[in-house]
Amino acid sequence: SKPLLEVRNLKKHFNLGGGKILKAVDNMNFTINRGETFGLVGESGCGKSTAGRTIIRLYEATDGEVMFGGENVHKLRGSKQQEFRRQMQMVFQDPYASLNPRMTVGNIIAEGIDIHSLSSGKARKERVFELLRAVGLNDEHANRFPHEFSGGQRQRIGIARALAIEPQFIIADEPISALDVSVQAQVVNLFKNLQKEHGLTYLFIAHDLAMVKHISDRIGVMYLGKLVEVTTANELYAKPLHPYTQSLLSAIPIPDPEIERTRERIILQGEIPSPLNPPSGCPFRTRCPKAMPECAASMPEFKEVEPGHFTACHLY
Ligand code: SF4
Ligand code: MG
Repeated sequence: SKPLLEVRNLKKHFNLGGGKILKAVDNMNFTINRGETFGLVGESGCGKSTAGRTIIRLYEATDGEVMFGGENVHKLRGSKQQEFRRQMQMVFQDPYASLNPRMTVGNIIAEGIDIHSLSSGKARKERVFELLRAVGLNDEHANRFPHEFSGGQRQRIGIARALAIEPQFIIADEPISALDVSVQAQVVNLFKNLQKEHGLTYLFIAHDLAMVKHISDRIGVMYLGKLVEVTTANELYAKPLHPYTQSLLSAIPIPDPEIERTRERIILQGEIPSPLNPPSGCPFRTRCPKAMPECAASMPEFKEVEPGHFTACHLY
């Protein structure tokens, strides 16, 4: 069957004036199947949030296409655009900043219901209770304000708000990064359970591979605005192809001390280059332990090197 989401040659460039162009998202290509979780991973500033925001059309794309259920998201107008807005929702990174402090939790959760006039009065109230319970909160919480809740609870409220209008697709932009480690697993499990119950499809954005391991079916790794590798989660952890992915994986501690002691750590040299002035050729070459002369001369093409396994590297 066709994927639910197809991202084709997507670009989001910001013109900063004075001839400076920030290529925050540069030529991304990937698909997400219905019911799947696609983890999008990369260091801060690599463009993953911008990619998420361009896909959901909080930003207009500079070029390329985002196909959702066969429709080009960036060409939708009028009632079709309204309908699309119902199908795709976003959960934000910062559960403190993303909830209006002057609104009750019930009204926050019902925002989408009100915008789309889905229900009112008693039915609306019942729906809010149902949503609170679905995310592990309870009815009394509806009349309280965001500041009365912990970070993990606030993220549950953000998730309930996203679920309120029964979307098919949720973009979660680092939804657990700001939470205590002890709470992160609970929120990941909530995402998983809701996916099963509601048949949801996720784009789950995170800054390291450890965070997406237990939720992703497939994973995309980004570096300086570009995807450098995409494959299934299992394949990525077992057989990473791109030297950047290999270095990210080598940074994740392994619980088994025997393996941990003997395995090789790949320490990257230097800082991430400025996205305003990326290196010629392969954007990773200034830090790549395997760089060769041709890496400076030409940009490696992002291509399928094994079935379902894509990477952009001259080694393949
Ligand atoms: Fe390293 Fe060259 Fe591959 Fe880039 S193309 S990741 S510099 S080996
Ligand atoms: Mg971000």
